Amino acid sequence: MIPALRGTRDILPGEVEKWQYVERTARALCERYGYVEIRTPVLEREELFAKGTGEATDIVQKEMYAFTDKGGERITLRPEATPSLVRAYVEHNLEQSMASAKLYLMGPMFRYERPQKGRYRQFHQLDVEVFGLSDPAIDAEVIDLAWTLVETLAIPSAELVINSVGCSECRPQFQKALLAALGEDLPKLCEDCQRRATINPLRIYDCKVEADQPIIDRLPHAVDYLCEACQAHFGGVKRQLDAWEIPWRISHRLVRGLDYYTRTTFEVLGQTLGAQNALLGGGRYDRLVEHLGGPDRPGIGFAAGMERLVLALPESVAGDRVQAFVVGIGDDGRAEALRLLRELRRAGVSAQMEFETKSLRGQMKRADRLRARQTLIVGGDELARGEVTVRNMENGEQRPVKRAEVVADVRHSALGIRHSETTTGDV
Ligand code: AMP
Repeated sequence: MIPALRGTRDILPGEVEKWQYVERTARALCERYGYVEIRTPVLEREELFAKGTGEATDIVQKEMYAFTDKGGERITLRPEATPSLVRAYVEHNLEQSMASAKLYLMGPMFRYERPQKGRYRQFHQLDVEVFGLSDPAIDAEVIDLAWTLVETLAIPSAELVINSVGCSECRPQFQKALLAALGEDLPKLCEDCQRRATINPLRIYDCKVEADQPIIDRLPHAVDYLCEACQAHFGGVKRQLDAWEIPWRISHRLVRGLDYYTRTTFEVLGQTLGAQNALLGGGRYDRLVEHLGGPDRPGIGFAAGMERLVLALPESVAGDRVQAFVVGIGDDGRAEALRLLRELRRAGVSAQMEFETKSLRGQMKRADRLRARQTLIVGGDELARGEVTVRNMENGEQRPVKRAEVVADVRHSALGIRHSETTTGDV
């Protein structure tokens, strides 16, 4: 037996229904907000992420599945989607061909991380990006989409945190203030922070080391150093979130250290996930498209971890139940049952039958295990009367239905059930 790789997992029947539910919900919401799906390759050139994710990041330094292929090219499994979307946007000149470049992608990402609950080496993201728009209302729309996804999934006690990291005008002042405030405390911080202080001081805010926290809590806040334009932008985002009654709080720790990240940053935190509590994260990156060789266009987006959304779902989401289970008694009954089975399926009803067991009891047991809603029984008596016995498996009621009408009858009640179960009526 050759087991699956560490940090990868099989999504088995029983769990896969939750995935389908999350995917369905995400897809429906993205499309309702005017985002169009894009699918890009899992394999990309290593340099796309070295440039687009950042040479100095842990992702690029330690976590990429990068290798030389048989043709001698340096390639990698994608560790995130944003650089791929930027590449596709530029490569296919999507700003010309799309009414507005609002895109989403769902798929696997790969990072060589230390696996734990909610953290895997192959994981899946929903990635949402907008190119070419810079009004604060688009920031608010992207945040609204992220928040509404979490709300629609009924994930309990989720929290939206936002911040602004300014732009190339005002960030240098913030960085200077940060280094000044660190001053004598710097040698007391962990080794990683010492390194960050020289390469990328803003990343000190990401530090999770317990002993460093009191020092980091005293550091300056990015929002106090915003230039006028960045202040106005952040004010616009907050006002729009308020107007839409989306609850937010500022987290001064939400700082992205890379040059092309600008202005708005945000995360939605879940309370049930332990250490890996970020359900999704995103922000504005007004310099990234240009940085990757495209025109000077702003961008904003977020990535949600599908594993974490599934883990945070409130309770088991049951898959669609079998609508009709067909039972055949005797050779003639069985032949008729097999005919009916196919008619039902062709009429759009999910229908099953037991092929191996011939006894009525055995077949009914199977219908129970499958949690079928209705059982359609075709035996000698029914055949003689030109009827089928329809049994409601929830309350045990049985009624005879004309053979010629049974498909329409079952289809009708199946549609009725599906309709009444879509309580919110929206996904
Ligand atoms: P990032 O691309 O690092 O900003 O992450 C965005 C979201 O993806 C996070 O909020 C997580 O929900 C999810 N995520 C990131 N890394 C992993 C991982 N190794 N395993 C599972 N989910 C992840």
